[in-house]
Order: sequence, then structure tokens, then C-alpha cells
Amino acid sequence: MRVEASGLSDVGRSRDQNEDCFAVDTAQRVFVVADGMGGHQHGEVASRLAVDCILENLGRPEEIDEGPASSLPRAIQMSHRRIWRASLGDETLAGMGTTVVALVMTDGQAVIAHVGDSRAYRYRQGTLEQLTRDHSWVGEQVAAGLLSAEQARLHPLKNVITRALGGENGLEVEVGQWAWRDGDLFLLCSDGLTGMLEDAEIAECLSAEQGLEGAGEELVRRANERGGLDNITVVLVRATE
Ligand code: CA
Repeated sequence: MRVEASGLSDVGRSRDQNEDCFAVDTAQRVFVVADGMGGHQHGEVASRLAVDCILENLGRPEEIDEGPASSLPRAIQMSHRRIWRASLGDETLAGMGTTVVALVMTDGQAVIAHVGDSRAYRYRQGTLEQLTRDHSWVGEQVAAGLLSAEQARLHPLKNVITRALGGENGLEVEVGQWAWRDGDLFLLCSDGLTGMLEDAEIAECLSAEQGLEGAGEELVRRANERGGLDNITVVLVRATE
């Protein structure tokens, strides 16, 4: 198999700081997007810690043997505790947290784990499918059939997330795996993309005959065109046999 990938993060048009963070590690076939939050712009500390800690833990030989369906959620749990410990040692970091969505490509499977409202999508033969379910208040309303995806996207409480890395309490990480097919394109993104663009618009950007880098730039350009109210991060991963 061959895996190619591209990542891009943009501050957007409304924020002063970029508190998103991402990693594209084609050697380990690990891809991560994290969207940090916290006072004094310290969300960027949380999202950076999450990404670094996940990559570090997945690289340990015993974790490689175990397989990503167990090692990936465990690495996220470890980064959750690491962020919590870091916030104890420095009062300016108190309350910092982050979402995360991470993808590990194996020979047959795309293993995806997430916490919060950063998302993973799969684009296959012209169809875009959201693979993750947002851990957010509006996400729960959508799951219960009380709001449509479009109502949720525009809802005043859309930023209320129900799970994040960095708190004192235990964390439930959601993990799933999907058998990939030749040419499948996976998108990981922060809500600065999905808050600005409907799924149909995202699909349109992915359908154009351009490289991954061009598609990523187009997604960011359009999200900014729609207002760019938040930091925008996209990671695109294509698997071929
Ligand atoms: Ca965000």
C-alpha cells in the first residue's frame, strides 16, 4: 500500500492565535488534528501536547506490536493525563483542554479515534461520509434526531463540547475502524472548517482533479471566504494499493 498525505492549518480571519495543531507522519502512518481551548491562548499548549504525546506513545515498540485499535485510544488517554498534569504545575494553564481526532492507516484498515468535535470524513467515489460523531451538545441532539446537521452547524450552542482531553476526570475515547479501498481519501479537520462549510461544499473541494495540497488549500480558502471565524485545520490522507 501507499499512503500520501498533506496537512494545513490557518489562523482564520477572526482569531489572533492559532490554537489548532496537527501532525502528518507518513512513516508511522499516523495523522492527528487537535483543537485546543483555554484562557490566555493556552489552548495551543494543550493541542501541541496532545499531538506530541500521541506520536511519542504510538512509536513505542510494545504499542506497535499491540495494533492501533488498542494503542491509539491508550495514547490519547496518556496525553489526556499529561495535559492535566501540565495544567496543575502552572496556574496560567489551568483549565486548558483540547479535542483530538487521530487516524492510523494499517494494511487493511483505517483506525480512527476521537474526542470532541474535530471530525474524520471519508471521500469515496464521489461520496463524502462523516465517520465520527461529535462529542458536543448539538452532536447529541443530532444523534437523538432533535436537530438536523445543518441546524447544529448554525446553532448558538454549537461550541459546547461534552468531551475533551485535559480535565481531571476519566476520559472516554471513541474508536472505530473501516476497511479502506484503493483511492479512498480521508479528511481530518477542526470545527473551523465544518462550522463554515456544509458537507456538500467540502465534497466539492475534494472532487476537483487536484493534488492533496491543492484540495487542502481550497478548503481553507473557502472557509475563510465564508468568514473564517475560527482556526481552520485540515489533514488529507489518500491510500492506494
Ligand atoms: Ca475550533
